[in-house]
Amino acid sequence: MTEERKGHIQKESEPPHGIKVIALDVEGTLISNAMSQFPRPGLKFFLEQCQQRASRVVIFTAISHRRFEALARTLVHEGSAPPWFATLEFIEWSGPHKDLRFVPGVTPQQVVLVDDLEQYVAPGQQAQWVKAPAFEAPYSPQDRGLWQVLDAFDRLGLYNAPSK
Ligand SMILES: [Mg+2]
Repeated sequence: MTEERKGHIQKESEPPHGIKVIALDVEGTLISNAMSQFPRPGLKFFLEQCQQRASRVVIFTAISHRRFEALARTLVHEGSAPPWFATLEFIEWSGPHKDLRFVPGVTPQQVVLVDDLEQYVAPGQQAQWVKAPAFEAPYSPQDRGLWQVLDAFDRLGLYNAPSK
């Protein structure tokens, strides 16, 4: 049995425990893209939920740190994101995958990656991936993708954390 298959079975039968970090993709997950920067419906609520459900929230994106900070400041200024969004921990990484070993101080099993694209998920880390339905044109105000992610957090046992 491959590592990937084992991870899949684990996800179905026994949610991983001890998740400490929520790692968030940006483009297609939280916003449209770095050019148009449309916030996804429910973004501010979603980010606040992330902060309550994990002890650490980090950004794991293909766009540069500088670019992220600039667009995040705009979203904060618009009221589309909480003030701390622009100063979130930013994961520096390289290679073809968002390998969760790039997240400092924890094991990959303690991280959940929220991303619309499976191609970024590192081999063997499928169980740590929460698929965000892609936020795509025409960017409907009826989009409920972030609520679907919160439902997935519920299934993983990521409720409001009793202690931080
Ligand atoms: Mg994406």
